[in-house]
Amino acid sequence: MYNPKSLKAEEFISHEEIMRTLAYAEENKNNLENVDKIIDNAAERKGLTHEEASVLLACEDESRIQRIYDLAEQIKKDFYGNRIVMFAPLYLSNYCVNGCVYCPYHLKNKHIARKKLTQEEVRREVIALQDMGHKRLAIEAGEDPVNNPIEYILECINTIYSIKHKNGAIRRVNVNIAATTVENYRKLKEAGIGTYILFQETYHKESYEQLHPTGPKHDYAYHTEAMDRAMEGGIDDVGLGVLFGLELYKYEFAGLLMHAEHLEAVHGVGPHTISVPRLKRADDIDPDQFDNGISDEIFAKLCALIRISVPYTGMIVSTRESKEVREKVIRLGVSQLSGASKTSVGGYSEPEPEDENSEQFDVSDKRTLDEVVRWLMEFGYIPSFCTACYREGRTGDRFMTLLKAGQIQNCCHPNALMTLLEFLQDYASEETKVLGEKMILDEIKNVPSDKVREILVKNLEQIKQGNRDFRF
Ligand code: SAM
Repeated sequence: MYNPKSLKAEEFISHEEIMRTLAYAEENKNNLENVDKIIDNAAERKGLTHEEASVLLACEDESRIQRIYDLAEQIKKDFYGNRIVMFAPLYLSNYCVNGCVYCPYHLKNKHIARKKLTQEEVRREVIALQDMGHKRLAIEAGEDPVNNPIEYILECINTIYSIKHKNGAIRRVNVNIAATTVENYRKLKEAGIGTYILFQETYHKESYEQLHPTGPKHDYAYHTEAMDRAMEGGIDDVGLGVLFGLELYKYEFAGLLMHAEHLEAVHGVGPHTISVPRLKRADDIDPDQFDNGISDEIFAKLCALIRISVPYTGMIVSTRESKEVREKVIRLGVSQLSGASKTSVGGYSEPEPEDENSEQFDVSDKRTLDEVVRWLMEFGYIPSFCTACYREGRTGDRFMTLLKAGQIQNCCHPNALMTLLEFLQDYASEETKVLGEKMILDEIKNVPSDKVREILVKNLEQIKQGNRDFRF
């Protein structure tokens, strides 16, 4: 029985409710009067229900799809301005006891090079990331209670936060590790993590069990209920995601929105972010063996619909996507991008030898961080290295309340400009620096409050003189 307030996976992600929703969406997709009404509702910027959003996903009318794109672009501008937050993944260990059939880490894969960073190697990786200019990381690890126990993850987080190299510092560590216990989530919270990210992979229980035939990840309910345990453990910000390509995208989309509705209903705060990874080629993995791959057009439509359905939730696109695809979807609502990512264990400080491959998947966007930053600015976006909200305690419902009241702009925009200037001063090429400094000068004018502008100008001057870490 469908119940968004239930704590049981099978009740808040009810298969029957998803099937009913998809049937309703099919029946109503050509009722253009109703479709227009739903788009009008979305324009109120209060989000859409999974049922409403599913009708829009099913609708194939070109002029309505264009309206959805235009609205997504507008909502993105209203809530997130022209900022794009930058981050990088850091792979700690690819030891894994699970049998996920789409992931090269699976236990039966005997040819992937198994690696786990020592604390000295973590240090080297973090210094390499700091030397590019990164301030925000997402740590990644396979699930292996012997090789990667929670103590190892906590030790790595400690090491990462402790490294101060030149002007570098990692100021926010997000964590993408397997579903765990309330007690372990509490430990992660105490270690000072930002967002806890866990991809659902698929919301379809039967497929989930087939795609995860062995290992602790096989347990659909334990995995699906992880965010509730994380929140019980005190983690304010959680990040959802589906691995598109595993199951039918319409099913996943309805499930994803139901999950967001569930978190809002039970914890009073929806997901902080939604990631939209697509299945990629990897060691021992051929994406063509999976039937449910989605085209770039559908991918863009999904991004736009996520933006208008959950306007307060950040959206993350990784380097799994090419420059061309990223170019299309940042306009439609994406708020965070990774840059210069390596998915191998230890890949930032040392390239892997030819015969040794520990990568999780092939990266499509292989540009340097400097190139990504310059490309964003050429498009009129401000690359932001800001981590202030979480450090100022603006997390969970506090962050959401400010965002909903339109207040967050007073912090995010000046913080983006200050962290961009830090990047330009410390890490950028001359070409990027020239472009960026001009952009900052232009953008100062767009700060609405005189007082904030005054402080911002002073801080920017300080940053030019070598001082760091100012924030609103
Ligand atoms: N081990 C953790 C877990 O079980 O959730 C998470 C870490 S894993 C390094 C991060 C994510 O990579 C997975 O949740 C999955 O969605 C994604 N992934 C796995 N194989 C992939 C592939 N072949 N292509 C693209 N993404 C993949």
